[in-house]
This record gives sequence, structure tokens and C-alpha cells, in this order.
Amino acid sequence: MSTIGILGGGQLGLMMAQAAKKMGHRIIVVDPDDQCPCVSIADEFICAKYTDEQAIATMASRCDVMTYEFENADAQLVEKFGEKFPQGSEALTVSQHRYKEKKFAQKLGLNVPEFIRIKSDADLYPITRFPTLIKTCRFGYDGKGQWLIRDIEDLNEIKLEFPGEYIAEDFIDYDREISVVVARFKDGTVAYPPFENVHEKGILRKTVIPCEINASVKDKAIEAAITIADQLNYIGVLAVEMFVRGDDVIFNEFAPRPHNSAHLTIECADFSQFDLHIAAITSQPCTSPTLLRPGVMFNILGQHVAEVLSKYAAQPDEHVYIHWYGKKENRFNRKMGHVTLATSDAIEMKALVERWRMSK
Ligand code: AMP
Repeated sequence: MSTIGILGGGQLGLMMAQAAKKMGHRIIVVDPDDQCPCVSIADEFICAKYTDEQAIATMASRCDVMTYEFENADAQLVEKFGEKFPQGSEALTVSQHRYKEKKFAQKLGLNVPEFIRIKSDADLYPITRFPTLIKTCRFGYDGKGQWLIRDIEDLNEIKLEFPGEYIAEDFIDYDREISVVVARFKDGTVAYPPFENVHEKGILRKTVIPCEINASVKDKAIEAAITIADQLNYIGVLAVEMFVRGDDVIFNEFAPRPHNSAHLTIECADFSQFDLHIAAITSQPCTSPTLLRPGVMFNILGQHVAEVLSKYAAQPDEHVYIHWYGKKENRFNRKMGHVTLATSDAIEMKALVERWRMSK
């Protein structure tokens, strides 16, 4: 039994805390919002900015181990606390900057879209391949900070702000998007089979397991994710998002934390991604997860809340698992919860998916 400090009190922290509680651990959370999802579950809550070194030092003095639940945690601050954050700081430094991240993947020999760095308007004009995607190097998430450039006119019109940094990368006409979630322990690394993801406007809407890909694509994707975690000397759960085109697996980005696409492991696997994350950071022996049944997850965004409540009230179902994150304010496109459909009966799954697909 340990005391675990979580930097960030959002839904990932909440689900980490739920897993940790099952294992008998205590939880301390640092978050600037005293109404964040973790408030209801934390044994101790420290209301402070993520960059408040004193608050993190207080948390460190009261816990055995710490974890961050979001990839924009301050890497230098995390570094100061050394092994108290087993995830380390390098995974943050690399994943917080898209150019560094793509370079890192390229150096590891992974397939990446062609990309260039943009630090001034002049850097835009070597772009001759369309469509191309321009992305901010920092703080882009859920499709924010991205511009699709279809042709030279779009390129002429785009107004980027400098000294901001951007990358331009080839738009990949992919067959499917997948993610591989790995858990790296002190004594080994394990992975779930790939998840298939559907995004709309950059936001994850749906995840499906098992993913219909051939064995060679599956192996390549898992190997890529394990290589990344190993190279970073990372401990905990890490997710890698990739595109599949034909037999090619193309790296998009990674997140050094549990991931939205693996939420269905709570019901569809013997060990969820949150169980594995907590086990890894508390130095438990490496445990390999097994998928128990197929699953489909839909995110519940702000605009879906009323629809989900009325559907569930009208017809609750033993194969439908709804998770609410306890966020006070409901906003358009804000992740308010998720619903997992889990059953081995293919006909039943089809009917459930029809019923639970969000309308907006
Ligand atoms: P990102 O923030 O990089 O994960 O991008 C959000 C979503 O935009 C991805 O999940 C894809 O659906 C789409 N996307 C990002 N990069 C590319 C790309 N190079 N080609 C095609 N679609 C992309």
C-alpha cells in the first residue's frame, strides 16, 4: 500500500485514482480547480497551479511516488523530483514539441509523414506538396492549432504567429487510425493489441477493439510503441497514435500517460490501462493484460449529455457501461464522460452500436 501523488485532477487522474483505490493506495492530487473530477476521490487535495513547485514539493513529501496525468506538465519541474516521477521528464520534453517528437520517431527508424519546421513565413514557401497539415509545435490538442492547407492559395492566406513554432507535414490519406497502449514496468514492457480510432475534427469520437488489421501491421505497430517507451526509459502507461495505409504504419504522436482510446480496457480487459499504470509506477512486477471481449467506446461530449441520459433511462443494458467524469461545466465538445459497449455477441454489439452512436 502506497500513497500516490497525481499532478492533474482531470478524468485520467480520476480513473488512475479509481484503479489505485482498488489496490488499497492513498491518493493526493494537485490541481488548480477545486471542482475538478479528482476532488471527490482524493484522500488529500492541494489546490495549486501545475507549475507550483512548493505545492508539488508538499505532495512529494507526503507520498511514495508521483505521476502526471497530462503531457503538458512542466518537464523541468518534473525533472527536479527525479525518480519520484517514474515516468520521467524526457517523455514530456519530446512529446510537448511536435518537431522534436517527429525527429525522435524518425531517428528510431519509424515511418513518419514528411515534415518540415516552420519558424517564419519564409519557411512556408518550400511547401509544394498538398494537402499538407500545419500544426503548432506546442499546446495543440484535440485538433486545435491545426490547419489543413489544400493548395497554394490556402498557403498564401494562412496567418501564423511568430515567434511561434510550427511544423508542416504531409496529409496522410490513411485507411485507419490506430493507437497502441503499452505499459513499461521496471522488468518488462507489455502492450494491448491496437485500438482502432475514429476522430472528428481532431477529437476522438469512437474506439473499437479488436482492430481489423493484419498480423504484420499489428506487430509493426506494437513494436513501434515498445521502441518509443524503451528509448525514453519510461515507466508507466504510454500511448502511440499511428496511421495505417496499406501495410504501412505511420507514426503520428505519442502521449506519456493513459489514453482516451484505451478507456474500454476497464471493461474489456483483465487489467485496465489504469491498473497497469498504477502497478508500473508502484514497482509491481510486469503483468501482461488479456482482452476478454470486444468493445466499442463512444466519447460523451458536452452536446451528447442529454441524449445519453435519456437513452440510458429508457433502456439500461448490462453490456453498456457509462462513465461520468464529474465535470461541473458542460461545454460543446468538452469530454464529459464515455460509454463502453462490451459484449462477445456480434449481433448484439451491432445493435448496441446503432443505438449508442452519438447523433451530433
Ligand atoms: P493530432 O493532434 O496530431 O493527433 O491530430 C488530430 C487528428 O487529426 C488525428 O487524430 C488525425 O485524425 C488528424 N491528423 C493529424 N495529422 C494528420 C496527418 N498527417 N494526416 C492526416 N490526418 C491527420
